[in-house]
Amino acid sequence: MSFEISLTGKTAVITGSNSGIGLGIAWGLARAGANVVLNSFTDNEEDHALAAEIAKETGVMARYIQADMSKGDQCRALIEKAAVCDILVNNAGIQHVAGIPDFPVEKWDAIIAINLSSAFHTSAVALPMMREAGWGRVINIASAHGLTASPYKSAYIAAKHGIVGLTKTTALETAKEPITANAICPGYVLTPIVEKQIPDTMKEYDMTRDEVIENVMLTRQPSKEFATVEQMGGTATFLCSNAAAQITGTTISVDGGWTAL
Ligand code: NAD
Repeated sequence: MSFEISLTGKTAVITGSNSGIGLGIAWGLARAGANVVLNSFTDNEEDHALAAEIAKETGVMARYIQADMSKGDQCRALIEKAAVCDILVNNAGIQHVAGIPDFPVEKWDAIIAINLSSAFHTSAVALPMMREAGWGRVINIASAHGLTASPYKSAYIAAKHGIVGLTKTTALETAKEPITANAICPGYVLTPIVEKQIPDTMKEYDMTRDEVIENVMLTRQPSKEFATVEQMGGTATFLCSNAAAQITGTTISVDGGWTAL
């Protein structure tokens, strides 16, 4: 069987893709030939410049569409504005670290909205487009925290377990069609969302930055290495290939062995 990874003619919409894993996945899919739609809640020159750079380097069509993934109507509008969505990557996510009694309610609501409900809204609009096109891929970016838990991250862990469940349901609803839905579960990847957790964790455990990286973050990652955004791009590209056509409703861990423990 040929291992086809040419995505020429396909269009991918990647939520929360002006930095980190989303941007890495946009680059990976563009390098495989897919047109890409980048997104975040901001609308800066730099956001549009990222799309222009991808188009220039890879030759695909790339554009940036501003939409706030904490708002259901804007999630839906993102897919409508994209007009074509063969590959949907639900990646936008935020984090907050606090014990349950002290967890700010507005942070809980924002995390559930951005990390979980946004994927329901984008999928609701994208799935009919995929059916119309006769091909589709839904890739939800969950986490090792979609399969295991840690203290002080209640909303994030609830949302990530939730998106694993949504992925399974999406797969069952599309099982007889040439559409798949899977979740990628990264371990720690050194991106802005992780950088932002370091000061709070330093305070929580009274540790230095290096101690937090070694003794808190990578302590559960047996490889003792951060995963990279390029590896996330490669995994997403694989899920779009013919070889992955029967992979649906599952989770793929890219976590250096974390969930094997
Ligand atoms: P990041 O902070 O670099 O990326 C988050 C992205 O989401 C950014 O592009 C940001 O602009 C966007 N975003 C935030 N709020 C938004 C909103 N309201 N509307 C639209 N976009 C919004 O962090 P990252 O590590 O690249 O995270 C990407 C995804 O990967 C998240 O879902 C995160 O939970 C998941 N993840 C990350 C790691 C890690 O170690 N970095 C591990 C497991 C899972």
